[in-house]
Amino acid sequence: MVVNLKILNNPVSITLEFINKIAIPYKACGITQDPETKNYMVVLNDICEKCNEVCNSIHFQRNFKNWTSGNNDIDKFIQDTQLSEHTFRVRNALEWIPYDRLDTYIAEDDEIDRVYRTNWTDGCICYWNNKNQNWERTDQNRFVTLKILNNPANTTLEFINKIAIPYKACGITQDPETKNYMVVFNDMCKKCNEVCNSIHFQRNFKNWTSDNNDIDKFIQDTQLSEHTYQVKNALEWIFYNKLYDIYVDEINKMYRANWIDGCINKWDNENQNWKRADQNMFITLKILNNPADITAELNKV
Ligand SMILES: [Zn+2]
Ligand SMILES: [Zn+2]
Ligand SMILES: [Zn+2]
Repeated sequence: MVVNLKILNNPVSITLEFINKIAIPYKACGITQDPETKNYMVVLNDICEKCNEVCNSIHFQRNFKNWTSGNNDIDKFIQDTQLSEHTFRVRNALEWIPYDRLDTYIAEDDEIDRVYRTNWTDGCICYWNNKNQNWERTDQNRFVTLKILNNPANTTLEFINKIAIPYKACGITQDPETKNYMVVFNDMCKKCNEVCNSIHFQRNFKNWTSDNNDIDKFIQDTQLSEHTYQVKNALEWIFYNKLYDIYVDEINKMYRANWIDGCINKWDNENQNWKRADQNMFITLKILNNPADITAELNKV
């Protein structure tokens, strides 16, 4: 652990009362002697004045010397959010995120304004791990959203929380090329207040298209309605090469095939992908005559 040393000027008249007096807001843990100067020194452990122990604000404080945003306002702002953490679970603290911890970002159009998307290697700080003397984190390698801070001097937590809905703010970074400071958010669902299936589906929107806007929109809507653990009604875009042994059932005027992947069942956090059921299942295909009105067509089936 990190301790502080304070020189004892008068080792002869040392009392526990005296040690405790210089020890606030520290906790005295022992006495040592510097072999060169021969100075006796009290060994002090930092403690939080509010909690009277080594709380998260102290863990954050010890790390202040190891990072800087290069901007005093932002440094001060991040430090203040960190010094307000006195509970076991870290709630609102932001951290300085070195840009190289983020994968190259993808620009994406948001309805309101431009946001950037990327993967963040470390994930959000969760709580202090005493054994490893480091932070436990969640959501490693998750997609995060970046928003540019236009006015770093006027950053407040209220402001960040305002732009943070429906996201959870986790930190601040700087693009070394544009010099833009950006808030790093973890996506959350507005309805569930967490990363639910609708978010997992949404993150994958850029990876598929049916080449028909009506069909894209229809599939996306079914996916955005998924807020429970088990996926219930979401449809997905199925690449045609995932089907095999396709043949025409002349009697019923239907196509039959086998589907390699099988139906989406639930999200697998470990593999960061969908768990599926009924791989290689036998399926029926029906032509959509009117892609613009899929709902009506589906009701006819
Ligand atoms: Zn505290
Ligand atoms: Zn957490
Ligand atoms: Zn949800």
